[in-house]
Amino acid sequence: MLEQSVINKLIEIVGESNVETSTTERVSYSYDATPNFQALPDAILAPQSTEEIANIIKLCNEEKIPIVPRGSGTNLSAGTTPLAGGIVILFKHMNRILEIDEENLTATVQPGVITLDLCNAVEEKGLLYPPDPSSMKISTIGGNINENSGGLRGLKYGVTRDYVLGLEVVLPNGDIIRTGGKLAKDVAGYDLTRLLVGSEGTLGIITEAILKLVPLPETKKTMLATYQSMDDAAMTVSAIISQKMTPTTLEFMDQPTIEVIEAYAKIGLPTDAKAVLLIEQDGMVEVVDRDIKRITEICKAHHAVTVEVAKDEMEAEQLRSARRAALSTIARLKPTTILEDATVPRSQIAPMVKAINEIAEKYSLKICTFGHAGDGNLHPTVPTDARDREEMDRVEKAFEEIFQKAVELGGTITGEHGVGAMKAPYLEMKLGKEGIEAMRAIKQSLDPNNIMNPLKMFAKDTRKRVVL
Ligand SMILES: Cc1cc2nc3c(=O)[nH]c(=O)nc-3n(C[C@H](O)[C@H](O)[C@H](O)COP(=O)(O)OP(=O)(O)OC[C@H]3O[C@@H](n4cnc5c(N)ncnc54)[C@H](O)[C@@H]3O)c2cc1C
Repeated sequence: MLEQSVINKLIEIVGESNVETSTTERVSYSYDATPNFQALPDAILAPQSTEEIANIIKLCNEEKIPIVPRGSGTNLSAGTTPLAGGIVILFKHMNRILEIDEENLTATVQPGVITLDLCNAVEEKGLLYPPDPSSMKISTIGGNINENSGGLRGLKYGVTRDYVLGLEVVLPNGDIIRTGGKLAKDVAGYDLTRLLVGSEGTLGIITEAILKLVPLPETKKTMLATYQSMDDAAMTVSAIISQKMTPTTLEFMDQPTIEVIEAYAKIGLPTDAKAVLLIEQDGMVEVVDRDIKRITEICKAHHAVTVEVAKDEMEAEQLRSARRAALSTIARLKPTTILEDATVPRSQIAPMVKAINEIAEKYSLKICTFGHAGDGNLHPTVPTDARDREEMDRVEKAFEEIFQKAVELGGTITGEHGVGAMKAPYLEMKLGKEGIEAMRAIKQSLDPNNIMNPLKMFAKDTRKRVVL
């Protein structure tokens, strides 16, 4: 618990109404979207400016109090669970779009801006902010940057990292620095912007971001192809890419996922199909028409049972929403839902899905797999019950094997959800001891007192979940 003298100093910095220490509030911020991780913070602060944040950090650094920055808490790697207690920092007062610069094609935003609000605001000006995690209705830009989030448009447009041009950051010693800027070119020194993107709140607090925008494409078309074999769907993905087309979206859902989504969305998805591809292309009308035609031919050549192009935007949005609802709909099945994001080179999707199915059988688990086929980023998801310790044990073992297989196939333990506390024990599988030491050296030099989001990324035993 924090001493009263520290709480008084925090009140002096942010004002009494922006400091919460009640049990109800502490419990509310003791967990995030990751199942089975929970720990109470000592206080929750809602600062209003970069200067207030700098003063909080200076105080915490002196007193060695842990700080957990928190956007909307939708991360799936226990990134905002305050495992070492301390202070949770919210950005609800720092949620303004400061500028949309139509000449430089940039948006300058505070960290608490909701992703979809930014997308809508720039679209009104004929511009596109492409990163679109499925959680975009609630996730914040600060969270997206710190997890380097991806989305359905990732295949063509890349991930959050590709759209962060500059940052304002408060470092763990309280210094405020600016990296990058509204610049297309900038090679002055180390690329701190890239280092901070995906740093999961462990290196500082992002208080402002300059983001790159692109012109809104003239049109887009969405289609659905269904298959009786996973291999045929995977071959279709490879064939589309190797024929030098880059669709905006190339998403995959397996049979168990289709069944669960259809039970909820009731939009006529074929529940007997073994795999479904959701494909979207955007751009100039002629290019989109040409690509959709060619992609239809490729799907048919690879034994698609049906290939249908959405007849209007409403139907297209229904399909996109259905895919975005995958996690939420699977979560209706059982009290606990564990989703991972093992990622492989896209040429390895078929062997990876096959391995996931074998592992599911070996451990007698239902695993629904969906994800970004074009990126090789798969989300094997297990509906389970945390109170059933024996089953949870099997789930842990299954995921460990899934990570091992992904790395063996040239992939990684996480494509977009981050390491946090949940995947920290597996980081070495991907980076090796030396890789971890190089990262630890960066962390140590910027945050010698380890106040920023401790017990994340480097801790080895954090996957011991708290069973409620
Ligand atoms: C239903 C659902 C669907 C999802 N779909 C996707 C998807 O398609 N793609 C994807 O990539 N992810 C997805 N996610 C995961 C999650 O939404 C993303 O990781 C998202 O970027 C988190 O945003 P947030 O605002 O909730 O951040 P939080 O969860 O609050 O925080 C995420 C991390 O950022 C740090 N952080 C937050 N703000 C700051 C700041 N200002 N300065 C420093 N550190 C900060 C936190 O400490 C934490 O480590 C999904 C989650 C759910 C629940």
